[in-house]
This record gives sequence, C-alpha cells and structure tokens, in this order.
Amino acid sequence: MDNCIFCKIANKDIPGKIIYEDDVCLAFLDLSQATYGHTLVIPKKHFANILEADDETVAHLFVVAKKLSASIMSNCHANGLNILTNTDEVAGQSVYHFHIHILPRYDKEELTIEFTDHSNQTNLDEVYEKIMK
Ligand code: AMP
Ligand code: ZN
Repeated sequence: MDNCIFCKIANKDIPGKIIYEDDVCLAFLDLSQATYGHTLVIPKKHFANILEADDETVAHLFVVAKKLSASIMSNCHANGLNILTNTDEVAGQSVYHFHIHILPRYDKEELTIEFTDHSNQTNLDEVYEKIMK
C-alpha cells in the first residue's frame, strides 16, 4: 500500500534490521526499542490491523512470534516478555499495518502495562449478556 512505512520495509524500499523472513511475514527490530530487543512481526501483505487480516496469516504470525520470542529471550537474557498487537488509535496503534510487538522484559519498571482493578464498578452479568448476545 502506498505511503505505508511497513509495506516499504516489506518491499525493501526502506531499510529495516530484519531478523527473520519467510514467504508470508518478516520480523525486524522496532526503532524505538521500548525494551532491549523489541521486535515487530508483520505480514508482507498489507492489512490495517489484526481484525482485517485473514485467519491463516494471523495464525502464522503468532507462531513465528512465539518462535522468535524464545530465541530473543534466550539471546538477550530476558526474564520474560509481552506479546501484543495494538488495534486502532485508542489502543495505541500508530502504524496501520498489522504488526505484533515482541517486548522482552528485564524488570517490572521499564514498561507499564497496567490492569486497573475495576471489579467493584463493573457488573459481570451485564458484561456477559452484552458479549454473548
Ligand atoms: P504501534 O504503536 O503499535 O502502531 O507500533 C508501531 C511501532 O512501529 C512503534 O513501536 C514504532 O517505534 C515502530 N516503527 C515505526 N517506524 C518504524 C521503522 N521505520 N522501523 C522500525 N520500527 C518502526
Ligand atoms: Zn502496509
């Protein structure tokens, strides 16, 4: 897709530190390095986000992300990792080409992904009914 930075990396129009490539996807180092070894896995074909991508591509990318996570964790001596994909602006997506973040973790403070407990303000029965309808 024109003007998509990740399509440009996939097409080798602009450089990326590519650590893995196959027919369907590639993985390269995220410029920001939110944590040491921060890597992105993207499909070569353009999809705006995970919901737009076909199931086969999504499944393949997550298997690749899992395999790369194991080698990155081991080679970078990480203690854990987060695997996530941001979908839409409100969730922090800034590049609208589906990508999976691999974020190796070394300590709890370097990155904040906070799950605030709202259990006293949320009716689980109501949530259940909404999701199941
Ligand atoms: P998101 O906010 O989930 O859309 O993530 C987009 C990520 O792409 C950010 O972490 C950026 O640092 C990263 N990024 C943007 N441009 C490039 C680039 N040219 N090469 C590598 N990473 C990039
Ligand atoms: Zn693209």
